[in-house]
Amino acid sequence: MGVSQFARSIAESPTLALNEQARLLREQGEPVVHLGVGEPLNRAPQAAIDKGTAALHGGKIKYSPTTGLASLKQAIIHYTEEHYGRTVAPRNVIVTSGAKQAIFNALFAILDAGDEVILLAPYWVSYPEMVKMCRAVPVVVSPEPGSLEPDVARVEAAVTSRTRAIVVNSPNNPSGMVYSPDFVGSIVRLCEERGIHAIMDDIYHKLVFDGVTAPSCYDYTRLETDQSHLIVVNGIAKTYGMTGFRIGWAIASREIVGAMSKIQSQTTSCVSSLCQVAAEGALLGPQDEVETLRRAMQHNRDVVVEELGKLPGVRVTKPKGTFYCLPDFSHYLKPGIAANSFELSMFLLNKARVVTVPGRDFGLEGHLRLSYAGSTVDVLEGMRRIRWALDASEPREIEIGGRTLVREWA
Ligand code: PMP
Repeated sequence: MGVSQFARSIAESPTLALNEQARLLREQGEPVVHLGVGEPLNRAPQAAIDKGTAALHGGKIKYSPTTGLASLKQAIIHYTEEHYGRTVAPRNVIVTSGAKQAIFNALFAILDAGDEVILLAPYWVSYPEMVKMCRAVPVVVSPEPGSLEPDVARVEAAVTSRTRAIVVNSPNNPSGMVYSPDFVGSIVRLCEERGIHAIMDDIYHKLVFDGVTAPSCYDYTRLETDQSHLIVVNGIAKTYGMTGFRIGWAIASREIVGAMSKIQSQTTSCVSSLCQVAAEGALLGPQDEVETLRRAMQHNRDVVVEELGKLPGVRVTKPKGTFYCLPDFSHYLKPGIAANSFELSMFLLNKARVVTVPGRDFGLEGHLRLSYAGSTVDVLEGMRRIRWALDASEPREIEIGGRTLVREWA
């Protein structure tokens, strides 16, 4: 009652919904293992804690300018120079409440009703709903069957006179893929030729494995930031494990930043000043904790890929970054288990108390997203339970949280 048709049409974030379900089970004393949530276990880097604490004691936690504290913007400019070799001005930077708000405000700034935004499957779950909230239309481009990487020709074929943006997320949530330099270069060129925006969601830019570097869109443009259609989104949540601080940012032309600033000024005014100061500490402080986190994720990636190899019929492409993988579980979509990836996720939660996220929500049915952002012990335990639940050649009995469970369905 009282909720608009439009609000009703927006889906809840499935990751958050599953987390809620898992939390309820945990509260009831159930031994839930989380392979669902994209959140590292570390505390914030010490420099962030120190700077935030000092600001809190200093008492100067007031509204900040809408586009962010000048000092944090300087830290972001420094970060952009260091990690992308790109020099930008303060007018090209807006600090937002997480990368999520940066993406939403950017979309809101560029979209009119009925405009189209190209999303590359598998895509992050929130993109389609954000586009719809701007009364625009998500247009999904799927990869070739069996592949997790988009195809430039298919992207080009999807561009119409209503296309306003292409969203590119590499390293990719949910697949862990890092797109090739060729692909990133082609998208930047396509966008420049057709006058459309490339929204580069670079939130996992630093979380890459095996010496890989994620290609940067800036390597493929000659345009100055104020003339460019590039909108690069970043944040501290993943690189520094500072999810709850809710600090993200976008780098874009003065015009786009100006429009995003107007939207922000009328919705949230500015981002929490305390968290902005802490973010400054993270960006300017010692970076060794980033490397520690990256190594831990790479180790967990190796563990999860090895464990998945023990599950008959499951195919996985080894991730090159992030802390996710997206194995193909379609072998287990069968009577007695599940008809689709959502049912399979629910099955694993109910039977084995493991949280996974259905591939359907990322635009790739038949797959499950597994997060290995938690402890290695959890990754191993989660995989042990998944094997027990799905593979008939495993022993029928399993010990979970001090209880013996018997598999009755396979
Ligand atoms: N983009 C992607 C691809 C993500 O996975 C996430 C977080 N899960 C975000 C953006 C949002 O990040 P933040 O927490 O900074 O809002």
